[in-house]
Amino acid sequence: MSGFKYCVALDIGGTNLRGTWLDFKGRRDKIFLKKRPQNLSGTKHALTLLIQKIIARCPEKPGIIAVASAGPLDVQKKCYLKTVNMPELDFFPIGSFLEEKFSLPVLLENDAQAAALGEVTYGCLQGEDFALVITLGTGVGTGVILDRKIWRAGHVTGPELGHIFLGGEELCGCGQQGCAETLLNKRALLALATKYGLTTTSVRTLINIGQQDKQKFIRLLQDYGARLGLFIAQLQVMLGLKNICICGGLAHFARLSHKFMRATLEKRLSQRSWWLPDTIKYSSNPDLSALLGMLSLATKQY
Ligand SMILES: [Zn+2]
Repeated sequence: MSGFKYCVALDIGGTNLRGTWLDFKGRRDKIFLKKRPQNLSGTKHALTLLIQKIIARCPEKPGIIAVASAGPLDVQKKCYLKTVNMPELDFFPIGSFLEEKFSLPVLLENDAQAAALGEVTYGCLQGEDFALVITLGTGVGTGVILDRKIWRAGHVTGPELGHIFLGGEELCGCGQQGCAETLLNKRALLALATKYGLTTTSVRTLINIGQQDKQKFIRLLQDYGARLGLFIAQLQVMLGLKNICICGGLAHFARLSHKFMRATLEKRLSQRSWWLPDTIKYSSNPDLSALLGMLSLATKQY
């Protein structure tokens, strides 16, 4: 256990900045949310103001700033690599920027990998030593926990399993075609909804209008669930993990497609039942998973 009592935990996404202070027992302030300006100087400024606000409200001076972010990232050098969805942050050395600004140590971790840690430390897979956590949102992120550690394979970033081939020819931000991300992210879901005459710009609204037109909504759940089931089947061939959690902004929607996802998964793996997971859960508070994961990393609980 580290020597500090409080940490500032942040989650940087394509659209928003989120953050709060936490203590090592997981107690926290409310989560502050700010729109992230789509340029580097605006992002730096908004980040600085958010951290200042969190520090001012923290019961004691925090000992560390722990940042989860969409990436890809070099977590050792604490900088962005060439990003998939945030080109204005390409190669931004966020670690040294924040260390100089606040004279505090900084931790940086991929948001999906942080979410995986959050779910096994404090969330719906609490206490599990092995787990696969899939984050469905603007992108499709994954975190693989093996023997209580984030599995990075041979990559500086950790494996980015949202970029395995799932079908089709759509160009992905990573430079490949037909990645899982192009079929399962928020944009893909809303495009699928439009195909069924359920046009909208937000997932929350989609769930509401789906209640008015249940026939179309069920067809949408069938299609999306089948895609998700195919994705999980591919990952299970490689990983064979017994515990899976779905989090991110699409977690609530994905939960509604559960039986269709499960049907595809069981059909594909019918001859290899040992590849099937025992449990597939959905995060109860997807906004919090990555922040709790950063606390877990800061306090070295996993
Ligand atoms: Zn890709």
